[in-house]
Amino acid sequence: MTFCEECRKDVIYSIKNISMKGTLKGEEYEFVGNKVTCDECSNEVYVAEIEDENLKALYDAYRQKNGIISLEKILEIPQKYNIGKRPLSLLLGWGEMTFTRYCDGDMPTKQYSDVLQRIYDKPDFYLSLLEENKRNLKSQIAYKKSKRTTLEVIGVKETVSSKIDEVINYLLVRCEDITPLALQKALY
Ligand SMILES: [Zn+2]
Repeated sequence: MTFCEECRKDVIYSIKNISMKGTLKGEEYEFVGNKVTCDECSNEVYVAEIEDENLKALYDAYRQKNGIISLEKILEIPQKYNIGKRPLSLLLGWGEMTFTRYCDGDMPTKQYSDVLQRIYDKPDFYLSLLEENKRNLKSQIAYKKSKRTTLEVIGVKETVSSKIDEVINYLLVRCEDITPLALQKALY
């Protein structure tokens, strides 16, 4: 039920899939949206959730035409690399809340979008960013967690652990009184 201005009461409504046009940043875009009408008088009525969906469809059309990364991919990035939204933003040298705003649906600029697209597509690119900018992070636990997951994504987990084994073997052979600290230093 929603309120109909014409009938001056709450009414049952119908939803119809139609082609719509909307303007964003001075340009018109066509998209498939939902038109909602009152079942009694057939006038168009307003339903907040459907209005939101239409707006998202308009934004999606804009993203597609201008080569801006999709919201779905943006939302996937923190999961894919096991990093929080704020740490990721700091890692990129952006404002702490910038990435969070993109997750809420804000439109990234083309430049920022290209960085996100590249991160999404290339785990090794993300890994190099993580290494280069780890000092931007407030916690080194976040760095280690994300690095572990990213290596799994890349699929070099086994290679790395076998390398670590090699180092350990080397150290065990070479040093008879190896301290845990020396071992840690050798590994990281
Ligand atoms: Zn009505």
